[in-house]
Amino acid sequence: MQAVNFFSLTHEGLRSFFAVLGEKPFRATQVMKWVYHHGVIELDLMTDLSKDLRNQLADILVFELPTIESEQVSNDGTIKWLIRVDEKNCIETVFIPEIDRGTLCVSSQVGCALDCSFCSTGKQGFGRNLTLSEIISQVWIANRNLGYFGQRNRIITNVVMMGMGEPLLNFDNVTKAMDLMKDDLGFGLSTKRVTLSTAGVVPAIDKLANTTRVSLAVSLHAPNNPLRDTLVPINRSFPIEKLLDACRRYSETNNGDPITFEYVMLANINDSKENAHELGRLLRGFPAKINLIPFNPFPGSGYTCSSRPDLDRFREILMEYGLITITRKTRGDDIDAACGQLVGQVVAKARRHQMNAETGIR
Ligand code: SAH
Repeated sequence: MQAVNFFSLTHEGLRSFFAVLGEKPFRATQVMKWVYHHGVIELDLMTDLSKDLRNQLADILVFELPTIESEQVSNDGTIKWLIRVDEKNCIETVFIPEIDRGTLCVSSQVGCALDCSFCSTGKQGFGRNLTLSEIISQVWIANRNLGYFGQRNRIITNVVMMGMGEPLLNFDNVTKAMDLMKDDLGFGLSTKRVTLSTAGVVPAIDKLANTTRVSLAVSLHAPNNPLRDTLVPINRSFPIEKLLDACRRYSETNNGDPITFEYVMLANINDSKENAHELGRLLRGFPAKINLIPFNPFPGSGYTCSSRPDLDRFREILMEYGLITITRKTRGDDIDAACGQLVGQVVAKARRHQMNAETGIR
């Protein structure tokens, strides 16, 4: 039997693993508690398993995690980990502490195929899907590095699938990972505290509603199709009407819970009064929350962020339509950990490595 990586297994998968060995399902409970509650990945320390079983497992169950390339801490307490997933690729995971919560921003793919015009990950193109183990490992590694294991109170209270990649284009691995985040024997987060953000892969939104329960955020960014076609090209396949229909169905399946609509504020592109009114009319009466995201510039993007007065005016107009609207704080920008900034650092770093190799400077 070839060794299996624990982190590549769902809860069900681990139970089947033990069933094949002729062990009772509660072995899965024991091992999951060790790993996800206590942060223990050494079989020798799993003292409620018999010595014989531990010996047997040593050859067939491994606990393999990706390695951390670097950890950067921002002035505001935001922490960014650069995590190596294979020889060629790194991904980034970001922890954002706030007074009443701690949010972990998790990546789902290396790069991204969607090429939204204002997103630096899109500029990198698509690398590959992350495996279940690479996704859930990000949460485990963050918990360990934050010193959570063994503590009473959670440090990571929320997970958002808003790192690199389009989570709905890596559907199976992302939904399995989110199930482990919510599982009582996993990280035990409630449905409302695990959020998937999508650029609008409409068929997968319906599939998601039938697969697992999580909060949904949608990267809307424009109030009409011609503008959205230019900013979020997947809109050409799934236009706004179809997207909102899917969002409505999703909300209905989830007890009417609101959908969060993300709207990146790009100066003179999508931030006029008219844009605000159009968005207000579009979403009026919809089970929606709106999250205005100040655009984070990166070299060569060709965009700038809306001014503060324009941002505030935009928000006020939306509130006139009865829409709950908040402006997201920019966090971690001194370490390039802000929204849409992640890959900039990876690419810059890769380039630096290459340059250093070429010049012999270390
Ligand atoms: N692919 C998913 C999740 C990843 S991006 C999605 O599109 O939702 C998470 C959020 O950051 C999205 O709303 C995305 O549009 C936004 N974003 C990307 N680049 C940005 C930038 N440079 N400034 C601000 N927000 C950005």
